[in-house]
Amino acid sequence: MKTVPLDIILLGPPGAGKGTQASTLVSGRGMVQLSTGDMLRTAVRDGTPTGLQAQAVMAAGELVSDEIVSGLIGEKLDSMAHSAGAIFDGYPRTRPQAIALDAILAQRGRALRHVIELTVDEDALVERITGRYSCAQCGEGYHDRFRQPRLAGTCERCGSTQFLRRPDDNEQAVRTRMAEYRAKTAPILPVYEARGLVSRVDGMAEIATVSAAIGAILDR
Ligand code: ADP
Ligand code: ADP
Ligand code: ZN
Repeated sequence: MKTVPLDIILLGPPGAGKGTQASTLVSGRGMVQLSTGDMLRTAVRDGTPTGLQAQAVMAAGELVSDEIVSGLIGEKLDSMAHSAGAIFDGYPRTRPQAIALDAILAQRGRALRHVIELTVDEDALVERITGRYSCAQCGEGYHDRFRQPRLAGTCERCGSTQFLRRPDDNEQAVRTRMAEYRAKTAPILPVYEARGLVSRVDGMAEIATVSAAIGAILDR
């Protein structure tokens, strides 16, 4: 039994499968998912000051400010119960966020153990994202072609029959998000590489195959 929490980053462009894989790690290993995208969508839905500030930026596919997202991550880490570790999903996305994350973890006696990059073919991402939807009640992710609920129209996790599509999952916003990823997020990889933290997983494989590859990295 490991006592130190296993804190990891899932890194990859929009649609790479970060949320899908985080969900498996949460149910299979008792880890906690920290998705800044989910936190921001909750803030928008609740109409908080952060949500009001972030809404238009998110709809356009641009990045919300580093201060806002790093603040959300710090709060969430402090509020979460003891867990097997944190999965950072969609954070950090810029150099300043990567620096902030190191400080946030160090202040709490924690440190990153792995940065797992999901490598994907960009042409596939638009199809993945435009086919994506999720359960309106529990947030479980699905896809029109690649991951349908076993019982059509009914969430496998909670039984709800209501589903949502994200307003930014349209082709134009997706192209902007990919450009943001290339310009601002991909450049943080060499920094983690220099620290020996990066492992690469083929994100074009079947969902279960990707999960197995991630599991093997965490167990080694
Ligand atoms: P991200 O969190 O990286 O933006 P998601 O996990 O939401 O990506 O995945 C985007 C969409 O692609 C979802 O609809 C998901 O069901 C689907 N998906 C995820 N991983 C795979 C995979 N390996 N093969 C095919 N479809 C996938
Ligand atoms: P995806 O993985 O599909 O790109 P996310 O759910 O992670 O989407 O993020 C949705 C949107 O929320 C982003 O396009 C961006 O506007 C905002 N966002 C999420 N996380 C961050 C972050 N770490 N830094 C800046 N903006 C973010
Ligand atoms: Zn559900």
